[in-house]
Amino acid sequence: MNISVLNNRFSTQQRCISHLEKLRWGKRKFVCPHCGSLNSTKRDNSIKHHCNGCNKDYSVLFGTIFENTRLSLTKWFQIIFIMSQSKMGVSAKEVSRLVGVKYQTAWYACHRVRCAMIDNELRLEGMVEFDEAYIGGKKRKLKKSDANKAVLSTITNKRGRGTSKVPIVGSVEKKGRVYVKIIEKLTGRNLLLMLKKIVKTDESIVFTDEFKSYKSFDNVVEHITINHSEGYGKGVRTVNTIEGFWSILKNGIKGNYRSLSKKYLPFYLVEFSFKYNNRFLESDPFTTILSNAVKEDKCFIYYKPKCDTKHIVYGSGRCKQ
Ligand SMILES: [Zn+2]
Repeated sequence: MNISVLNNRFSTQQRCISHLEKLRWGKRKFVCPHCGSLNSTKRDNSIKHHCNGCNKDYSVLFGTIFENTRLSLTKWFQIIFIMSQSKMGVSAKEVSRLVGVKYQTAWYACHRVRCAMIDNELRLEGMVEFDEAYIGGKKRKLKKSDANKAVLSTITNKRGRGTSKVPIVGSVEKKGRVYVKIIEKLTGRNLLLMLKKIVKTDESIVFTDEFKSYKSFDNVVEHITINHSEGYGKGVRTVNTIEGFWSILKNGIKGNYRSLSKKYLPFYLVEFSFKYNNRFLESDPFTTILSNAVKEDKCFIYYKPKCDTKHIVYGSGRCKQ
């Protein structure tokens, strides 16, 4: 896929709709998302179908990241294309300029596209590293009510306890895929919950540093602790892979977003993980995002990013738009 192919193939709203219908329902007939009936009639001059089972109308956009959108699908496809092709992320400001839409529209659409990057089925196996990092800027005096607006511009590996720092935990297969999430309290219990959720413990060896909370892994999985004070780990006995991911995340955030609010950090973590996990895949990330986009079970949809730019902090000053 390149930009001229994109513009040719998806030049009209109707072409985009047909493509999404094919992705969502394949060669099957249209399936009513309300009742599952296969018996429906297409409404004239509309993207809607009328279900003869439950008498309700639906379109292919129902329950997807495109639901209730007023933005044309050709623009949506362009936004998805730009986001899928940029290796290190692209800011909403850039997207707004490239596609020719308002900043707020671009910001909102970008978050919805990130929802279509979530991989709910991801389970790691083999040699898996765990490590934590802290995203957060210099210590600033923040009012309690501003806690969600912490400027997140740097990532450190130090176990700092600064008020504006957000702990994130990453888990990664050596030469493989990554999963990363915010864990406010790095207790043994919370880390163990993450391990059980994301790693196939029977088929894996887990590598961590000596942080005491990882001790809880000992009874559940084969667990190797790397002692940094005895010099760096050798061979596979390292947590180098996750450290590599931290540096990608750090450069990506600094380079494109400069700083983010804590509230929306999960969206960006999803984006960077998606890009990392798709880096070796043959399939086109554009197609992967589109196929995910028409699935109905997107948990972040209900997170509902609001078009409130006051929550977006750019470097030292607020975004002016
Ligand atoms: Zn129905």
